[in-house]
Amino acid sequence: MRRFSEGRVDMKTELVGMNQTELEDFFQDRGEKRFRGRQVYRWIYLNLERDFASMTDLPLQLRQVLEEKARVTWPEVLEEKVSEDGTRKFLLELQDQKTIEMVLIPQPVDSGLRYTVCVSSQVGCPLRCSFCATGAGGFERNLKVHEIVGQVLLSRWVLARENTGAEPRLTNVVFMGMGEPFLNYDAVLSAIRLLTDSEGINMGQRHITVSTSGEVRGIRRLAEEGLQVVLAVSLHAARDSLRDTLVPLNRRYPLAELQSAVQYYFDKTGRRVTLEYILLNRINTNREDARALVTFTRPLLANVNLIPYNEIGSAGYECPPQEVVTRFRRWLEEAGVNTAIREERGADIDAACGQLKAKREDIWQENDTG
Ligand code: SAH
Ligand code: SF4
Repeated sequence: MRRFSEGRVDMKTELVGMNQTELEDFFQDRGEKRFRGRQVYRWIYLNLERDFASMTDLPLQLRQVLEEKARVTWPEVLEEKVSEDGTRKFLLELQDQKTIEMVLIPQPVDSGLRYTVCVSSQVGCPLRCSFCATGAGGFERNLKVHEIVGQVLLSRWVLARENTGAEPRLTNVVFMGMGEPFLNYDAVLSAIRLLTDSEGINMGQRHITVSTSGEVRGIRRLAEEGLQVVLAVSLHAARDSLRDTLVPLNRRYPLAELQSAVQYYFDKTGRRVTLEYILLNRINTNREDARALVTFTRPLLANVNLIPYNEIGSAGYECPPQEVVTRFRRWLEEAGVNTAIREERGADIDAACGQLKAKREDIWQENDTG
């Protein structure tokens, strides 16, 4: 039996993060009927219920035992900011008081609103990309499965609670919050399996995007999982000398290795990979950069997503003017590369990776010294 609450004072077992079989085992190990696991699975993942007392199809006595021995928890909302465009950014607190970020992004569709949630996979990130606020903040720890899935359950709960008129639907999950998902591979994979379980949360595999800064072993492992999730690779430069400085992981896995891992993923899964490319003014936006990107991308039949840089004070990079963005896109398209410009969302609330947390810590530091 796994995930007994390691190191927690009250020694309760966290049930969020367990799949149906694990929950059935949990009950069987305690002399209960296996099907209790199925009931609790539905309460947790379908009914978003955290209170055992409300799990009305369980015997009263069992509910009391669960109250003492187990818990159903999600991260707590510490702060929320809402952007003019409706993007909502949450600062969340975990049980050990560490904080992570989560962003809810609405998309209007014919039948109302559809939401994407951007989830974190680590507290901080050890990879220190030079433009990224999360990287600058350093690394604290990996998230547990229940903390990853808990972000999705919390999002569904927030949306359900506020439901006004047309039902808002949380349809997409992107692993683009804090952290490098492939440095927390097992927990991320367990979370994806829970999110896509047709008897539970039941999200479409194709509606889940895992974004990696180029962790080659993770890309190759994911290729073997038999999943149809979207793989996004944060490229940002297609010349090794430049990528070494922007994404330090490139020194470990240079572009040739990354390219062959992406090729492997495409060959194995038949799924086209998305290459993310943040545009940094006067850094990666000239003709040579575009040529190198075309050379990297074409054999992979990958799609390129150009991302206007969300400026963070300390890094010193700038978002290029619109004409540079348009010109860069034209160079790629003229060479036959399928290119999109990612719509900027939530810039007024610092919705880029790591920014809310960085700001809050600035505020705390100011308070500490003042
Ligand atoms: N560690 C993973 C996933 C989290 S970062 C990765 O690097 O892919 C998610 C995306 O946000 C990445 O493409 C990252 O490069 C991008 N990002 C980080 N800081 C940003 C900023 N200030 N503006 C725009 N995009 C940013
Ligand atoms: Fe980590 Fe991604 Fe930020 Fe790089 S961009 S430091 S990999 S979170």
